[in-house]
Amino acid sequence: MTYAVYTLGCKVNQYETQALETMLRERGFLPAEREADVIIVNTCAVTAESGRKSRQAIRRMRALHPGALTVVCGCYSQLEPEDVSALGADILFGSGDKHALADAIEMALPARSVDDPFRRRVFEPLPSGAVSGRTRAMLKIQDGCDNFCTYCVIPYTRGRVRSMPLEEVAAQAAALGERRFAEIVITGIEIASYGKDLPGKPDLADAVLAAAQAAPKARIRLGSLEPTVVTDSFCARLAGAGNVCPHFHLSLQSGCDDTLRRMNRKYDTAAFLAVCGRLRAAFPGCALTADLICGFPGESEEDFTATLAFLEKCGFYSVHAFPYSVRPGTKAADMPGQLSRAEKEERVRRAGEVIGRLRQAYLEGCVGRTLAVLFETDRTGHGENYCPVRIRGKAMRGQVENVLIAGVEDQTLLGDVTNPPE
Ligand code: SF4
Repeated sequence: MTYAVYTLGCKVNQYETQALETMLRERGFLPAEREADVIIVNTCAVTAESGRKSRQAIRRMRALHPGALTVVCGCYSQLEPEDVSALGADILFGSGDKHALADAIEMALPARSVDDPFRRRVFEPLPSGAVSGRTRAMLKIQDGCDNFCTYCVIPYTRGRVRSMPLEEVAAQAAALGERRFAEIVITGIEIASYGKDLPGKPDLADAVLAAAQAAPKARIRLGSLEPTVVTDSFCARLAGAGNVCPHFHLSLQSGCDDTLRRMNRKYDTAAFLAVCGRLRAAFPGCALTADLICGFPGESEEDFTATLAFLEKCGFYSVHAFPYSVRPGTKAADMPGQLSRAEKEERVRRAGEVIGRLRQAYLEGCVGRTLAVLFETDRTGHGENYCPVRIRGKAMRGQVENVLIAGVEDQTLLGDVTNPPE
């Protein structure tokens, strides 16, 4: 039996797809070279656009593999099972229970299993592993979210916070280290809440240190972070590990205090700025990146201008700016002051101008530095700060080499390996 997969959305979805693939391969399935026997679409619901793309992907995969068993899982099918059924799913799962999904596919029984995410109490450990090639592996340590930001549908699709026990984090990181992955990305839906559901309440720093110590030759990169977890002690503990990447992706969303309050975010701009300072003190030269929502309901021109100024103040390397997307059932969907699509896109465009300048400034600041680059091809890779790097000579794919940065071209750092492989 052969399978084909299509994954939409975040790193957690990518991770869960690769885990599902591992489980299918263990059951004797092979990736399809042409028409597959089973197609799997792992959907996303984070924005209305993600829902539209999920529906489109299901249609496209069915057209490409007309006789295949159609399997749909993920956040969009959790949220809109009727829609997904109508598109012809034979097996329909939500965002949980990937082991049962692998069993259902194996038996090729038409099954329908969208559970109640709020009843999930235990973390479902999935096999960790590579997302692409053998360079970088993801380790999902946490699922669910209790934050209920007013614009976000994720707590309704993923349920409450569940965490992987510390011993399991260490065991999975050690296994990835033994498989010689050069980089492990710690991921989850809301990793800052790691451990609040576990006995003894370990925290995210405990989990990161457990992984860093269990895989000392790998470098550890953190996935998206809620800023509230970044205390002095968190920074000191991570910096002390010695193999945590100096790149932190912070969930900012707005640079205006009133907008942050209406989003039900748990910090203000002063606290966020202090977080940036703390990270820079502990990891000099680190790259800070962020997410930004443009055109949240009620965001005035002054609010947005303040946000643009705040981006400059934080000195981000990169920001993922996207237009606010109405998600039915969330508080923000019913807020007054909804902006038109054109207004939101215009704000994304204006944010893009600021972000482009900030990126160029950060990259130029890297000239003269030596970065440890993990090569994904024989000429390109990413530094420990996650900046893309290209070299003139050749390196070995999957290896980490020191590269002296000599310049910037097309938003990519250029340099030469200072310790060429033998
Ligand atoms: S922290 Fe907020 S934005 Fe992130 S998943 Fe939870 S509710 Fe959604």
